[in-house]
Amino acid sequence: MAKEKLKPLPCPFCGGKADSHYYTSEWWAEDKKEYQVECRNEECEVFVRTHGFATEIGAIKAWNRRVEGAEYVKMLNNVVIRELR
Ligand SMILES: [Zn+2]
Repeated sequence: MAKEKLKPLPCPFCGGKADSHYYTSEWWAEDKKEYQVECRNEECEVFVRTHGFATEIGAIKAWNRRVEGAEYVKMLNNVVIRELR
């Protein structure tokens, strides 16, 4: 049975589709490939990506990492917004 390939989660800011790909970071070293994951939603207001990874899976794992306690952060943000009104 083939292993399922690890895929990037949607963008944490806009929910848009993200993809992984490689790029050549230095023009003089065309064979030097690095991997990144980035949000492909052109309307995303946050330019977000992981880059500079030696492996595709490394870039995807970094992208898929989510902060624990996100609900707590959301609650704190709501308190701050209320206080600023
Ligand atoms: Zn996005």
